Amino acid sequence: MKKLTNFPYDHVLVLGLAKSGTAAARLLLQSGKKVRVNDKNASDSDAAVDELTALGAEVITGSHPLSVLHGMEIIVKNPGIPYDKPLLQEAEKRGIPIITEIELAGNLSETAMIGITGSNGKTTTTTLTAEMLKASEQGARIAGNIGHVATEVAQSLKKDEKMVLELSSFQLMGVKAFKPKIAVLLNIFEAHLDYHKTFENYKNAKCNIFANQTADDYLIYNADDPTVAEAAASAKSVKIPFSMKIQLNNGAWADDNSLYFKNEKLIDKEEIVLTGDHNLENILAAISAAKLSGATNEGIHSVLTSFSGVRHRLQFVGNFHDRLFYNDSKATNMLAAQKALSAFNESVILIAGGLDRGNEFDDLKPYLKNVKGVVLIGETQGKLKRTALEAGVPAIKMAGDMNDAVSQAYRMSGHKDVILLSPACASWDQYRTFEERGDMFIQAVHTLL
Ligand code: ADP
Repeated sequence: MKKLTNFPYDHVLVLGLAKSGTAAARLLLQSGKKVRVNDKNASDSDAAVDELTALGAEVITGSHPLSVLHGMEIIVKNPGIPYDKPLLQEAEKRGIPIITEIELAGNLSETAMIGITGSNGKTTTTTLTAEMLKASEQGARIAGNIGHVATEVAQSLKKDEKMVLELSSFQLMGVKAFKPKIAVLLNIFEAHLDYHKTFENYKNAKCNIFANQTADDYLIYNADDPTVAEAAASAKSVKIPFSMKIQLNNGAWADDNSLYFKNEKLIDKEEIVLTGDHNLENILAAISAAKLSGATNEGIHSVLTSFSGVRHRLQFVGNFHDRLFYNDSKATNMLAAQKALSAFNESVILIAGGLDRGNEFDDLKPYLKNVKGVVLIGETQGKLKRTALEAGVPAIKMAGDMNDAVSQAYRMSGHKDVILLSPACASWDQYRTFEERGDMFIQAVHTLL
């Protein structure tokens, strides 16, 4: 069992008892720290509360009283808890540092970490990078925002295994000393302003991925994204740009036909199974991270000629009755739906709609030109109907649930059409998660056919 080293705090408050909070508390206790856990939503009967109490933690549930700060030297905060909570404001006033669980994972890790962030494409790039390493006979484990708790993975990591960490802006915001050996910055679009308040704050959180890097480390970044390119200029690490537009002698790039790393051609575009230009960007980033970590060209090639996408991310569901079905349930914002629509030359029947966050959908209009029909679901049906009408989409239907949506989409479709779920909205008005929404889509496709 690995313990924390160089962690000069004896009294630690763990705030939020989700999977990562429980793992952090466990690790701190095992490292001999005095741990207080505070979770507003947990109850004393939860299994995690029992377990941590038995290990010696003081657990306070039901509310966040300011008294939990008493005697605490540092806070390990669940990434989802916003900084404007009175308890955290008070902690900041008292000068108590606030970190997230990845800081602890960085402290534990003895092998080089690859950290990947961006507004979109994190999960795909993280998965691709790990797969490329594995296909090159190298040990690699995915962790972080992708659903595997980073401290748990770091604890069981073998000496010859690399950790490929997906990092959200929420996780990165509290970075103190954490640094990956290889950082990847995919893109920065306006997102999560409810949490970060300003674009500047959000950008700064993303840039924390390279803030502590030195000249021995690497920063792979998207040279085509002006916000990213400008931010990357201040990094102290070795810069490895990637671009879909220009030839690069020091990074990964694409021309009309092929992808390259530096001066070496790695694959022709037509051999790549993943769909969409946005995925080519993710692939260039993954190639760079994998090459820097010792992946082979054969390993990279074999992944790119077989990998058909992460579940719910422009995932190819199948060709049924000569219609191509794609599940892009993870497209929870307009930008992701734009990318999905840009990926197809075929005519598309789009299933969209979901939680109403107050925004309009005007920016979707230019992307609806190949769309011959839309089927709308959820709270944003009305707004999206207006958008589709203004864009001149020939057929517009409303559906009550996913089965209804898929059967209406099928009825509108012809041979060789794409039937795409890319909602441009979060799922919480009708589904528990975007995963549930995507699974319902897949199920509905199978039921229909
Ligand atoms: P994340 O983990 O950052 O949410 P994913 O890999 O899960 O990213 O992809 C989420 C959605 O974002 C996908 O459905 C896709 O439509 C869109 N997307 C993926 N990669 C990119 C990219 N490089 N640029 C813009 N959009 C992207």
